[in-house]
Amino acid sequence: MNEVDPVRETVRANTALAAAGQSDMVWGHASVRDPEGRGVWMKASGWGFEEIDADRVVLVSPDGEVLSGGGRRHIEYPIHTELLAARPDAGAVVHTHSTAAVAFAALDVPLRALSHDAVPFVRPDVPRFTGTGSLVMTRALGGELAAAVGEAAGCLVPQHGLVTVGPDAASAVMYAVLLDRACRTQLTAMAAGPLRRWSDDEEIARKLRETWPASQLHAGYRYLCRLAERTGRMGR
Ligand SMILES: [Zn+2]
Repeated sequence: MNEVDPVRETVRANTALAAAGQSDMVWGHASVRDPEGRGVWMKASGWGFEEIDADRVVLVSPDGEVLSGGGRRHIEYPIHTELLAARPDAGAVVHTHSTAAVAFAALDVPLRALSHDAVPFVRPDVPRFTGTGSLVMTRALGGELAAAVGEAAGCLVPQHGLVTVGPDAASAVMYAVLLDRACRTQLTAMAAGPLRRWSDDEEIARKLRETWPASQLHAGYRYLCRLAERTGRMGR
């Protein structure tokens, strides 16, 4: 993270989420920790993921003050500031309104490793933040969400969406993509009939090593960034 320009990485993370189909018009946001410890760089309010460029990124303090950049901050900035405060190992956070995550969370059943996608989220079962299904707009609610996430790669937010966190933007974005797909896959299977098989603990541990090392998360992220560039979504 140290050598990464946080503004550029924030642009890349948000446009990659657009390329991955995570958009909900102007809602949802990705953030990157400020290397100087002032807060988080995140998407400005009022724009879609694919519309983000360097002029539409803001530096937000833990108190919600916009310290730099153009535009307004999202009201749900505490998701990012409080989660990064609670997770010194983390460098980036993603929040999206994945419809698959919302639909799956409504079933209130464990997530199963039906494919590679769910593997980072099933041992233990993906946490659910149930403090509110409305907006996470206070530091207290952000802290409660961070406590629900704990050491996990993210959480479901029933009636709302998902939140993911990782050591860098590549990981946080890819975890959001994987969690969204894992929910969609399980919804598809459960709609067709009862689940009968999924990876056991041994296969899950093996897949964590073989399918999702940091190198693969980065490879997937670089692909999404290239896709964003190809489709003209990349910012300046
Ligand atoms: Zn939201």
